[in-house]
Amino acid sequence: MPRTYNFSAGPAALPESLLRQVQTQMLDYDDLGYSIVEMSHRSTPFMEIAERSEESLRRLLNISNDYHVLFLQGGPTLQFAMVPLNLAESGDTVEYAVTGYWSRKAHREGSRLRNVHTATESNHTIPDPDTWVRVRNSRFLYFTTNETIEGVQFSQYPSNRSAPLVCDATSDFLTRPMVVDDFGLIFAGAQKNFGPAGLTVVIVRKDLCRTPRDNEAEYLNYAVHAEQNSMYNTPNTFAWYFAGLYFDWLHEQGGVEEMHRRCQAKSKVLYDLIDSSELYKSRVDRAYRSLVNVTFTLPNEQLTQVFLRRASQVNLKNLKGHRAVGGIRASLYNATTIEAVEALAAFMRQFEAENI
Ligand code: PMP
Repeated sequence: MPRTYNFSAGPAALPESLLRQVQTQMLDYDDLGYSIVEMSHRSTPFMEIAERSEESLRRLLNISNDYHVLFLQGGPTLQFAMVPLNLAESGDTVEYAVTGYWSRKAHREGSRLRNVHTATESNHTIPDPDTWVRVRNSRFLYFTTNETIEGVQFSQYPSNRSAPLVCDATSDFLTRPMVVDDFGLIFAGAQKNFGPAGLTVVIVRKDLCRTPRDNEAEYLNYAVHAEQNSMYNTPNTFAWYFAGLYFDWLHEQGGVEEMHRRCQAKSKVLYDLIDSSELYKSRVDRAYRSLVNVTFTLPNEQLTQVFLRRASQVNLKNLKGHRAVGGIRASLYNATTIEAVEALAAFMRQFEAENI
């Protein structure tokens, strides 16, 4: 059975060479006689995997010693709570930019825990940060670099002058360069751009972390995880191992600059087609169109369903838009090849010719 062109928004396509490598190590890791998923997280081979993985990520983004790099579970969704719990005290004010589904969800969780000020709120665009309504004495300014569902992406990040920047970089992490020193905290789930689901990387400035108070859970505290090298409890060893392979693969491919170049090239193929089409429409403001989640609509639901069915028949899979917004979404993360995108573009042109 040939592998298909997989445009899943996440868990997403992984580099085929890594899937093959993992397959060979699944029965016997490094001549140990047992699998990568059968070893203790405290064993020497796994400790080496964990350290190498962190070191590889630190080199990819030039992460300094001022930052902890944590490999946690609970998904980006747990970070919606951990961020306000760790970076602000009860009664403190924190700021959120709401630019789509995921930042709205983070905003909602933050509002349960701290005083949340909404700096900006938008759909399908990102208002210029200079126009955002800011407050004094905010503990952090939270935003989502790329809204996975709507396909809206910050082209430039807001300034960190008045409060540390916190970002959910889940869907464009390692697809573009980032100056980590400009951020207080960055988090990203692995399942889109660097591994399987079940692992979240948190990069947090050490001086923003503090030990838990008597009435706080240890598990929800960054300092506790940092102190234990992300092994406070059993980590997701498989995802951590896979992420390490993925980080090394990214180095071999040319690093995050090259990934960014490829994402620009891949998304341009689809946006150029959409912009010259009578059939496909993008709802997203051009300046903020995502390089990794290309969303578009067809004139009606019936034609959308025909599009999805026909695409699937020619091995173009997982193109259905999120249930919250409908339409089509092609996710073009690090492992999506230009060949896959060109196959999709050829299909889209043919479908338009037959349906206009
Ligand atoms: N933030 C963003 C930007 C996402 O795309 C997602 C998942 N698609 C999440 C948060 C939530 O991830 P999880 O369900 O793994 O917690």
